[in-house]
Amino acid sequence: MALFIRTIFALVMLIVLGGAAAVFWNMENRLQAISYNEFLTALEKNEITEVRLRDGQLSLKDTFGREFVTYSPAIPSLLPKLLEKGVIIYGSSDKSARLLSFAQLLIPVMLILLVWYSLLRNQPPGDGELDDKDKLKRFSPQEKHQQVTFRNVAGVPEAKEELLEVIDFLQRPKKYSKLGAVIPRGILFQGPPGTGKTLLARAIAGEAGVPFFSISGSDFVEMFVGVGAARVRDLFKEAKKQTPCIVFIDEIDAVGGRRSSGNIAGGQDERGQTLNALLVEMDGFSSEETIIILAATNRPDILDPALLRPGRFDRQINILPPDIKGRLQILQVYGQKMKLAEDMDLEKVARSTPGFTGAELASLMNEAALIAGRMGDSAIRPEHFEIAKDRILMGVERKGLVISEKDRKTMAYHEAGHAVLAKFLPETDPIHKITIIPRGRALGHTQQLPLADRHAYPKEYLLSRIKILMGGRVAEEICLNQQTTGAEDDFRQAIELATKMVCQWGMSENIGPMSYMKDDGAFLGEQLSRTVYSEETGQSVDREVKRLVESCYREARKILTAEKDFLIYLADMLLVNETLDQEEMEIIYECTSKKRKEGSAAKSPGDGMACAVSSTG
Ligand code: ADP
Repeated sequence: MALFIRTIFALVMLIVLGGAAAVFWNMENRLQAISYNEFLTALEKNEITEVRLRDGQLSLKDTFGREFVTYSPAIPSLLPKLLEKGVIIYGSSDKSARLLSFAQLLIPVMLILLVWYSLLRNQPPGDGELDDKDKLKRFSPQEKHQQVTFRNVAGVPEAKEELLEVIDFLQRPKKYSKLGAVIPRGILFQGPPGTGKTLLARAIAGEAGVPFFSISGSDFVEMFVGVGAARVRDLFKEAKKQTPCIVFIDEIDAVGGRRSSGNIAGGQDERGQTLNALLVEMDGFSSEETIIILAATNRPDILDPALLRPGRFDRQINILPPDIKGRLQILQVYGQKMKLAEDMDLEKVARSTPGFTGAELASLMNEAALIAGRMGDSAIRPEHFEIAKDRILMGVERKGLVISEKDRKTMAYHEAGHAVLAKFLPETDPIHKITIIPRGRALGHTQQLPLADRHAYPKEYLLSRIKILMGGRVAEEICLNQQTTGAEDDFRQAIELATKMVCQWGMSENIGPMSYMKDDGAFLGEQLSRTVYSEETGQSVDREVKRLVESCYREARKILTAEKDFLIYLADMLLVNETLDQEEMEIIYECTSKKRKEGSAAKSPGDGMACAVSSTG
């Protein structure tokens, strides 16, 4: 219906616009104009054969068939002359004036049509009226090439376990309904982006062999009120035709956010209506209709409580980035399809990628394969992974960036400062790589990799982390007697960590075991922390954070002063090699200790050259 009206409207507009264009085209005189004198001369010479009179304007045709136009000051006095010369005379009403008045009439009509059309668009469309169903993706069980099963999803054993039950509901709904059980309607997947929520939803459909309908929450939200709600009704109408089936709504927070938390009046209204439509549909299934609605979000905290009520999304499954075992399984899933070299140890890759999500691991594998291809290798080797990982973690090497020798030296001391502290402080993650090759936004980088996935961080670890962050600035001060802007990001991170220690994790003696902030849950994106302390407490918090960071700075300075020879030596080797790994750093340390014992520790850059470290940069 809406499509029909829209087509009619488009046709009317086309005719109206065409008419208006014709009017203006006609109004423009396209004939060549000649002077009245020239016309009289031609008339005298009997060259004029035809004249068309129109409101002071004369359209002429001469004996050569040419056409002209001229303007006569007095047509009535001209007429006898024209008759005398035997010129054919045509009269004509003022057509252009008529057309002009027609155009004047058209403009208001066009305006009325426009207003009518915009009103029509604001009307909530009826069911089935939406012609933009392309936003809804459908996968039927017959589409084998598109099918995903549990074999494609790795690293989320608990979620899989829980979802086995859902597959059974879909395959044998009668088994449950006979007993009077109501099959759960909605399951909410919550977790950071890229952890495989969509993949898991598709795998359930694949395992159960049922159709899968997928739409994103943001596709429901439109500018015009009622469109989203109609889209929800359409979606369920489609789904009901093919039960049992799965409906997957990605980014459900786009429609399911708390109704009071909107900021744009119109948008809020539209979202509210869409959410209501969704709730109505979820409540409205009959027990014979086995439709399981899976939804995904990375902002469970902002969802409207109505969505989470029993009978709606009452089952929630957390999907978090995989642990080392999970990472290995995901790498193996992708590794099966790739040509890996014999010496490729995926476990090592899994160990060195803490915090990577499934999507990041998939991209790491692909990036490594691309690099191997670009280098002309026949199989993917560990070094390809190393380059791919650096690229993902730190950005692409900025080869074209010209860095002065002075800046390189600053960077080398800065990074060496971080690295020396990471080596000597307790409870730190081992160093993986130190580099002064600029990548992404950073000029240099000291990369530490945890041996195991950590879930709880001890205070000692956090303090060491702040001290390591201070190391860059301290090293520059001790060895180069300078302060540079390079420490900005280190300070920002250190203060963030110290603030959390004081306010959130109750790790400050002066403030006590208090948690003043709500957890911002890292993966929830937006900072949700709400400070609920008094101004006085706020001031003590500030003082405490400052005290903590300053004491870490002093400690860092003490260690680096004591290890100055090692620091200089390391920075020196970094200038030569550009990149050093843990093993090379150990060799440099052993050399320094040996020299110390011999009483001739390297005191200035250049002395350390005696110790051979292979170049990796
Ligand atoms: P989300 O919906 O959580 O944002 P996706 O399911 O869209 O994440 O994941 C994006 C891609 O990352 C998938 O298509 C898949 O290639 C890969 N991926 C993510 N998690 C996993 C996993 N657990 N196992 C295998 N591949 C995964």
